[in-house]
Amino acid sequence: MIHHAQRFVDVILPLPLPGKFTYSVPEEMNGELQPGVRVIVQFGKKKFYSALVHRIHNDEPTGYEIKSVETILDKQPVVHPELFEFWEWIASYYHCSLGEVMKAALPSGLKLESETRVIFNPEYETDKDELSSREHLLLTFLRNRKISSVSDLNRADQKGNAYSVIKSLLNRGAISVEESLRSGYKPRTETYVRLAEEYSGESQLTELVDDLSRAPKQQELLMRFLEYTRFGSVEALEEYNKKLLLKKVGTTTATLNTLIQKGIFESVERRVDRISQYAGNIRDGFELSLAQEKAYTEIEQHLEDKQVTLLHGITSSGKTEIYIRLIEKYIQEKKQVLYLLPEIALTTQIVQRLNQVFGDKAGIYHSRFNDAERVEIWNKVLNFNPESDENQYQVIIGARSSVFLPFRFPGLIIVDEEHENSYKQFDPAPRYHARDAAIVLSHLTGAKVLLGTATPAIESYYNALTGKYGLVELSERFQQIELPKILTADLRDAYKRKQMRGHFTPLLFEEIEKALEAKEQVILFQNRRGFAPFIECKTCGWVPKCKHCDVSLTYHKHNNSLVCHYCGYTLHHPSNCQACGSAEITTKGFGTEKIEDEVSLIFPDARIARMDLDTTRARKSFEKIIHDYDSGKIDILIGTQMVTKGLDFQNVSIVGILNADNLLNYPDFRAYERSYQLMAQVSGRAGRKRRQGKVIIQTSEPDHHIIQQVIENDYTGMYKGQLAERKHFKYPPYYRLIGLVLKHRDKRELERIANQLGSMLRRSFRNRVLGPEDPVINRIQTWYIKQFWLKIERDISIVSAKKKLQEILDEAKTQPGNSGVQINIDVDPM
Ligand code: ADP
Ligand code: ZN
Ligand code: ZN
Repeated sequence: MIHHAQRFVDVILPLPLPGKFTYSVPEEMNGELQPGVRVIVQFGKKKFYSALVHRIHNDEPTGYEIKSVETILDKQPVVHPELFEFWEWIASYYHCSLGEVMKAALPSGLKLESETRVIFNPEYETDKDELSSREHLLLTFLRNRKISSVSDLNRADQKGNAYSVIKSLLNRGAISVEESLRSGYKPRTETYVRLAEEYSGESQLTELVDDLSRAPKQQELLMRFLEYTRFGSVEALEEYNKKLLLKKVGTTTATLNTLIQKGIFESVERRVDRISQYAGNIRDGFELSLAQEKAYTEIEQHLEDKQVTLLHGITSSGKTEIYIRLIEKYIQEKKQVLYLLPEIALTTQIVQRLNQVFGDKAGIYHSRFNDAERVEIWNKVLNFNPESDENQYQVIIGARSSVFLPFRFPGLIIVDEEHENSYKQFDPAPRYHARDAAIVLSHLTGAKVLLGTATPAIESYYNALTGKYGLVELSERFQQIELPKILTADLRDAYKRKQMRGHFTPLLFEEIEKALEAKEQVILFQNRRGFAPFIECKTCGWVPKCKHCDVSLTYHKHNNSLVCHYCGYTLHHPSNCQACGSAEITTKGFGTEKIEDEVSLIFPDARIARMDLDTTRARKSFEKIIHDYDSGKIDILIGTQMVTKGLDFQNVSIVGILNADNLLNYPDFRAYERSYQLMAQVSGRAGRKRRQGKVIIQTSEPDHHIIQQVIENDYTGMYKGQLAERKHFKYPPYYRLIGLVLKHRDKRELERIANQLGSMLRRSFRNRVLGPEDPVINRIQTWYIKQFWLKIERDISIVSAKKKLQEILDEAKTQPGNSGVQINIDVDPM
């Protein structure tokens, strides 16, 4: 007799709990389980989760009662196990649980949680004697209700755990569970029609056409079918999409059904991709200019011996064309390529450009896709086969989270606009930075990383100059068009002389007017959405604030409401001051909506569009705005930072920065670096084709050194200045930062705990601790907030520092009276 040793699996549960969890493997599942497949397991008294198998082994854990795996969900792994090493790095570096990484990594279609519903099968014929008493009880319960959740069934069960009973009832066919338990994803099918086998010969076909002459509608349908499948296509097709056929011919389903009933046509169900297919033309990559060619060669050389290379190329120098050339190379080597973008606003144009060269080989992965589409791309990436000639997604264009896609043959990761802070996830954990994660992934997989930008992050440029990364400089624009001319307009002066028209200085106003006359386009950048940041009572100074957060409410004119941009709390605009009753309430400051309003009054003939969070909620809205602007249907585009990044338009001659002061005055050690990046980037949208563009920066500090550096395109000057400050004040890249965010519903309690934690931290970390202090917004969604910063020297082990930190936090949390506090750790906060 062969004795099977009892097997165990360690699984990752989608929970913010440290470590992995061990379950035993029932005899009948032996041999079916492998790392990377999903299983259903019970955790806690009532809850069931889909977990990922991490490891299979024979080591029986001791000290607790071990439960067994309930069900296996996959035959093939949905994550290849080599990827776990990457997940583990994320969890350890960003200080979170593997389960949180799993949650961030898997598309939700692959994550099942336990509020699954169980459905009674009315066709099931009960054989009372066959059922156990528990089965009978549960089935009766379910028959009365038709449908019920697992937790309700648990409550109804004699032993309080219905899972095994549900399973046996499932096996009997007495019940079914909602599809979402088995998998959240269902392939989509469409109907195709084809000619029956017996009509495949020419003569039979001719005869058939003749036969149908008495049924002209059917005859026409047949003829058109032949036209589309044989003559209208490059290759002869076997079958044709039914819906499309009916639409093109303009006939009814009845006609087609008759042909099917006569046995002339057959209909077949075909699984189709939800992801749309590229149908445009394919072109070769452009020939590179001399300067581009040189940069390309340098990149290739650096990537020979460096894992990472930074391409510092000014705006419109043709970085994208260089990426395209590089992608081509990796495609030929049968490798997969990931093209990371900071924001979906950008994907429209990039996807278009990549599709033109790579056709269907390039696909997108982003948050605006629904679950099913994302699962589909996930699987395509997972199943990429370098040996196959079939058309496969080989280049994925995606935002932050696509760094988690299960690439098995990654060759190249491009991080476009690498300086962008939207690569950093703020909430929830893992608070990872996609650029940095991509670099670690490359070390684990051997893929190469190309960072590209006109305005590198200080940290990246530092790494390049110190030899950690390769560095390639590209300092001429394509076709040697000059960088735009940048002028300042003095706001303080213009206000004093009463020359302002709304928020427009005379200079900006005149330049816009000239551009419109010359049929050229304008971009206006204002870093705030909404109509006005807040409203104020003219009599007493009352300002309406959010009930839950410590911020004033933003006025949105289009629906006459006051909205909190942190929690969404909304009020109707009051007609009277709530403090003194005065009817005189004015708006203060301005956002994109107000600018749009003013522009439509000042330039009544201009066609205007606005691009910000409020106008781009719908899935295709970006595409529409960008397309309309690109094709000249819009003269003036007004936007938040969405308009500053990477967009490539042909006909923009004027860029206006409406207020540089609120960029520069933001209280953060990166404010100057960011101001430089934003202004340089938005300037870069001007004059990309044909001739030099112009940028007007409105500011009350025209002599500010950052503004001067933007004007002179002096990235190096900005870099050196900022680096000196960073060194002096102990910030990255010289020091590592760890942020701690404390939240509590009670203000006093928070203060007490923060002070207590402060002294605990100082005992170990001494003067490396900054805080507790109030963040810019110190109350969000009814939570009061305090923060700390730890500045850790580069040569101190970050691992032991984090370990020490965790010990202190654990201690602080268990002190009497401290249970109401929430503490988040943010490594490398942005
Ligand atoms: P960047 O990404 O550096 O801002 P882009 O790659 O968007 O610059 O290039 C700017 C514009 O110049 C684009 O419209 C691009 O198509 C065009 N361009 C750049 N290089 C070439 C080239 N070698 N041949 C033809 N057009 C080019
Ligand atoms: Zn008042
Ligand atoms: Zn709020």
